Amino acid sequence: MAYQLTQKLRDLTPYDPLAGKFKIRLDANESFLQPDKHMKAKMLESISKIEFNRYPDPTARTVCHAFADYYGINPALVTAGNGSDELISILANCFFAKGEKVLTVSPDFSMYRFYSMLAELDSVVMQKESDLTFCPEKLLQKAISENVVGVLLSNPCNPTSHGLEKNQVLWLAGKLSEKGILLILDEAYMDFWNQSVLPQVAEYDNLILLRTCSKAIGLAAIRLGFAVANPTLTQAMQSAKSPYNVNSMTQAVATVALEDRAYLDHCMMQIKQSREDLFVGITHLSQKYPNEIMVHKPVTNFVFVKTGHNQELFGWLLDQSVAIRYMGEYLRITAGSPDENQEVLQLLDVFFKRLGKEEKHENNSAGTQYKGNKN
Ligand SMILES: *Cc1c(COP(=O)(O)O)cnc(C)c1O
Repeated sequence: MAYQLTQKLRDLTPYDPLAGKFKIRLDANESFLQPDKHMKAKMLESISKIEFNRYPDPTARTVCHAFADYYGINPALVTAGNGSDELISILANCFFAKGEKVLTVSPDFSMYRFYSMLAELDSVVMQKESDLTFCPEKLLQKAISENVVGVLLSNPCNPTSHGLEKNQVLWLAGKLSEKGILLILDEAYMDFWNQSVLPQVAEYDNLILLRTCSKAIGLAAIRLGFAVANPTLTQAMQSAKSPYNVNSMTQAVATVALEDRAYLDHCMMQIKQSREDLFVGITHLSQKYPNEIMVHKPVTNFVFVKTGHNQELFGWLLDQSVAIRYMGEYLRITAGSPDENQEVLQLLDVFFKRLGKEEKHENNSAGTQYKGNKN
């Protein structure tokens, strides 16, 4: 008898990011900034000092300290992972038992349900309202009535760029704690907003925060994420992870970046400015082409957009060598360099101008008129 893949593997398809070279990449929410010359030299210098024949520090002590110092928290609460993706996988596999229920919201980061499925957990999904917000009280009720053991959320949310404010998060964490439910809160984009609950995390017995170096820190290439939680949860994370999960080069490079506050603050300021410029530009277009474009005020480094022509627009931009993220009912555009933003805004203008002409034409000839997406 031949070997059979398990059912859960048979149902899987490999993660499929956009392959190929594009002139402008605004599809993965990466930072548009490269380390400057000075920073790059310091990074290379730190790599040159690595003992390449030795395993990395299993506790990633130095980089966890640099992370904790930058954010002003206790380093004893920090666990490093090979990207926060690895940490989500560890959490799904080790903090819950097969068949238990976890709650996610939709739309949200797809990896929560992916790793939950691999860990053979049962996912309960709460749909967000039509304005893409959700009510924490409703989430709590759902968590209780469905008897879940954990809740996974990004805050602020990828892809909607909406967030729950600090007091709402803490209220939710407290209520879930009363019911013995773990709250895994992914603050991947919190460097672009000011509602982090990092300072309060140790006061909760059921709260695990995730942070990443892939977005505001600008180091997606090196794969580094952090979990922050009280000492009991941290010890469990440390015990459950594989010993040498973060390699020495990653530890060295991230330490250099995290120790340079002026550099990071400057990067984050530029990215926030870019996000504002992109948002303002798209808002102008949504006024110029009423009913065609819907855009939300962002608190992250990307802008969430709905149009009545998502697929067509996405494909047309790809033809111009511009990659954004197509997500069916909506599009997600990462804030790029000033030039990249300018170019994408110009292309959007061209697209909707042409569309308007075609519609007018169709309207005259076939009597149909596109009303746009008013959601
Ligand atoms: C990009 C992103 C991450 C980062 O994952 P890494 O594995 O650290 O690169 C985590 N969570 C969300 C919601 C993200 O969008």
